[in-house]
Amino acid sequence: MSENTRYTNAGIDQVADLVRKVCGLEIPLDLDKVVLNLGGTVIYENIDGQISGKCEVHLGSQPKFTIRIQQSESVTRQRFTLAHELGHLLLHTKFGNRKIQQEEYHDDVFHRSQNHDYCREEQEANRFAASLLMPRDLFLDAVARNSKDGACDLSKLAEEFNVSPQAARTRGCYLGMFRWHEQ
Ligand SMILES: [Zn+2]
Repeated sequence: MSENTRYTNAGIDQVADLVRKVCGLEIPLDLDKVVLNLGGTVIYENIDGQISGKCEVHLGSQPKFTIRIQQSESVTRQRFTLAHELGHLLLHTKFGNRKIQQEEYHDDVFHRSQNHDYCREEQEANRFAASLLMPRDLFLDAVARNSKDGACDLSKLAEEFNVSPQAARTRGCYLGMFRWHEQ
């Protein structure tokens, strides 16, 4: 049912760029403001099960959405989860896109086990999150500023975008700045 939801990496970057343009936000991105600008609500709470977050969409004359984030996780983890859920919202539900088919996105274990497109959709949401939080050009510039003698200070880099060092490293690998197997 969701075979139409195939995005190229460039297509995902375009959606992320559009969100930042519409919301006019600086880095590190204020994600709560992004959600507000898009007409949604974020709730930080204790969610049952091993779930980092989930997204509920309410369609109608004024479409709305609610993203729930696991309260007990670190701020950088919560930020990545929130951006990831925004990715599902804009890429995988009727809220964000014409070619989409799902009314709601249940980003939970039960849904995952039922959904054979899960892996691709997860990758797309992660790619979107990285692109939204660490825009390519700003990221490349930050890597250059935080590098000395060919080594990048990952903690400082991550701090600029308010993400975890691991998320910054992964983004750098995808952009060809860092090697995947380097420590
Ligand atoms: Zn997901």
